[in-house]
Amino acid sequence: MGAIRLEHIEKWFESLQVIKGIDLEIEDGEFIVFVGPSGCGKSTLLRMIGGLEEISRGNLVIDDRDVTSDPPSKRGLSMVFQSYALYPHMSVRDNMGFSLKTAGAPKSEIAEKVDDAARILKLGDYLDRRPKALSGGQRQRVAIGRSIVRDPTAFLFDEPLSNLDAALRVEMRYEIAKLHQTLGRTMIYVTHDQVEAMTLADRIVVLEFGTIAQVGTPRELYERPANLFVAEFIGSPA
Ligand code: ADP
Ligand code: MG
Repeated sequence: MGAIRLEHIEKWFESLQVIKGIDLEIEDGEFIVFVGPSGCGKSTLLRMIGGLEEISRGNLVIDDRDVTSDPPSKRGLSMVFQSYALYPHMSVRDNMGFSLKTAGAPKSEIAEKVDDAARILKLGDYLDRRPKALSGGQRQRVAIGRSIVRDPTAFLFDEPLSNLDAALRVEMRYEIAKLHQTLGRTMIYVTHDQVEAMTLADRIVVLEFGTIAQVGTPRELYERPANLFVAEFIGSPA
């Protein structure tokens, strides 16, 4: 569960090609980070995996099933955004349980899953609050909690920490690493922050104008950057 294969995926916005034939195998349980400068296509690639953006060409295979044309709800993935997109009029508990409620899950099951997620994310004391009574870091935890309760085969993160201040970003980075250890699920994480990429990733995919400049472990990229673009981006010694 949670193996994801990209087979020569392309994205065109009318005559503009922004993803230029990407092949990639993501292993079950892997923490993979897409990194690269603004506009290189990170979000577009992630959104195609999540089903929020149509794949122009190529195929997406999850656990040996071709999901290229499947709607987001059929892919078993869950996406966490930079803007938390919480419902302001609902409590933390209801925000976290909402997708299960919509799916018709029994109340007892919803309560159990929300409590489990709250425990993992240390939100137990905040379940009755509204989002506006939470800090930025707590809001992002709720957004992550909303994903956890759905028990996805993989988590997709699009710059989840970029709205937080520097200290909180470091703390949440640590939390996300711990979450990966706890859940053991595949995580695909988009960032333009090299430090985030280097500290979180099992493997990093460096994107450059819609193509893969290099894929490798943080160490491989640091010690043997494939080209100057990667070296400069990763900050390898010249
Ligand atoms: P990143 O997340 O790496 O900053 P994006 O995936 O958001 O990059 O964007 C990649 C390229 O695709 C950019 O040139 C962007 O302007 C373009 N793009 C993204 N979404 C659209 C869209 N809906 N229509 C047209 N062009 C788009
Ligand atoms: Mg983006």
